[in-house]
Amino acid sequence: PSSIRLRDVTVRYPNGTVGLRGVSLDIPAGEMVAVVGLSGSGKSTLIRTINGLVPITSGSLSVGDVRVDAARGRELRRLRGDIGMVFQGFNLAGRTSVMNNVLVGRLAHTPVWRTLVGAYRADDRRLAFEALDRVGMLARVWDRASALSGGQQQRVAIARALAQQPRIVLADEPVASLDPPTAHGVMKDLQRVNVDLGITVLVNLHLLDLARAYGVRLIGMRGGEVVYDGTAADATDAD
Ligand code: ADP
Ligand code: ADP
Repeated sequence: PSSIRLRDVTVRYPNGTVGLRGVSLDIPAGEMVAVVGLSGSGKSTLIRTINGLVPITSGSLSVGDVRVDAARGRELRRLRGDIGMVFQGFNLAGRTSVMNNVLVGRLAHTPVWRTLVGAYRADDRRLAFEALDRVGMLARVWDRASALSGGQQQRVAIARALAQQPRIVLADEPVASLDPPTAHGVMKDLQRVNVDLGITVLVNLHLLDLARAYGVRLIGMRGGEVVYDGTAADATDAD
């Protein structure tokens, strides 16, 4: 229902820099994809293009039945509601609870006093608990986000994406600032999100061996172009 389809997509930033150059890709719903490339190869441009944050200069891009390049207003909000984002820097509000961070997208119509006294709507509370349980962070639900380690914060960020009940999770270098064992833990969580929930996961990585371990499909990028698209196991540095 929400396959990602790019046809000859080029992105040129206002200053003239080319972010993507003639990229064509089909990512079926439910797939796990690792995008690998050096810094500046276009990985985050690809992610920001898919969620409609960066406009394409030419080509066509659709997610499910939404033409992203033509989407506006309500359609763009629906697209972004279907896409959970995970970033390198976690992007949590450090001073507030894990619970409030996970529910940030769902509390817009909840009076602040209710969150202060823990009076969440039952279905919000259930969603948050399920999401935190899935990433092994249920025990920390009432801690301040800033009290957590980097790996724990990234798990909470994944739970925040899950509480949105997305069809797609886009993760932009989610483990780049974590030490190797912690990075593996976070990658395993993303893998579970894909396998257990059937959510499409696209994860940007700069390390090929992580991609080999977790990407079922590997897309290699260089200079804004796709230079490899195949199984992760077969990919070599030369690609
Ligand atoms: P990454 O390599 O992880 O994408 P960068 O350091 O390249 O991170 O980019 C960080 C931020 O700076 C991003 O928001 C990106 O859009 C912006 N940026 C990157 N390159 C340029 C550039 N040449 N001109 C303006 N902004 C840029
Ligand atoms: P990666 O995520 O692989 O590091 P990016 O997508 O961030 O690559 O960057 C691809 C190219 O686009 C780089 O040359 C980068 O400097 C440029 N770029 C990224 N963001 C911007 C921006 N906001 N404005 C101008 N150039 C940008």
